[in-house]
Amino acid sequence: MSLFSLHGQVAIITGGNGGIGYAMAEALGENGATVVIAGRNKEKNNNSLNTLKEKNIISAAFEVDVNDENSCNELINRTKETYGKIDILVNNAGTNIRKRPENYELKEWTSIINTNLISMFICSKACFSSFSANGKGKIINIGSMHSIFASPVGSAYAASKGGVVQLTKSFANAWAKDNIQVNAILPGYIDTEMTRKARHDIPELEKRVEERTPVGHWGKPKDLGGAAVFLACSASDFITGAAIPVDGGYSING
Ligand code: NDP
Repeated sequence: MSLFSLHGQVAIITGGNGGIGYAMAEALGENGATVVIAGRNKEKNNNSLNTLKEKNIISAAFEVDVNDENSCNELINRTKETYGKIDILVNNAGTNIRKRPENYELKEWTSIINTNLISMFICSKACFSSFSANGKGKIINIGSMHSIFASPVGSAYAASKGGVVQLTKSFANAWAKDNIQVNAILPGYIDTEMTRKARHDIPELEKRVEERTPVGHWGKPKDLGGAAVFLACSASDFITGAAIPVDGGYSING
């Protein structure tokens, strides 16, 4: 079997019903994985599931709120009941509210930390017993350029995404002997619903990103597919605790 094949593997992608999450789900599915997409919005779940099925990808969509531990546990249990096991967890669900620090309400701040960071702990912990039983597992956490850089109007987002890198290293270290590899992808600026709103809120953002990105343009969700497949397959078995920028060079520009 090819180093990069995912045949027989079962993958869960939180926030897999749109944007980057959907593109990664499709890439994993096209390389042979069975994929479970998990989002809150039923219509987005159904539409994305239909597209996956049109591509002959074995797939399911479950309605899940990653802020709710019971909902995450149900996702893991339903996946095991439906497909017998879990091999790959992609912690992708994310959100942002752009404000200066002094203007955040506490509940806004905590909702961002909960969705972007604490959900990774909940879902990863919930998968651990399945990974242990299989003798292997892959976790892919989605960070951001704000895992590295500051954001004056996104301090909660930057704090959560900085935390993603440390969570990734810590889980990687803890679970290395269990043959569970935990890595992060740090996407650059990608054209999705989330960044369409950002470009609306910050009109100069579009051009600023283009000018700073060495390849000269924004990324597309599909640009994340290759890194997701690599970190999910056996070709990356000796890589753990890494945070890989997929950013058209944005992070190497001073
Ligand atoms: P989208 O807004 O298109 O997607 C966000 C996804 O997260 C949706 O599928 C949404 O599903 C899901 N989601 C949000 N909250 C919850 C929740 N409480 N429970 C379950 N699912 C939830 O944005 P992107 O595709 O851009 O973002 C995907 C990830 O990539 C995020 O972690 C984001 O921070 C990160 N990222 C994005 C970048 C970009 O430039 N676009 C750059 C760097 C990182 P639903 O609507 O059904 O709730």
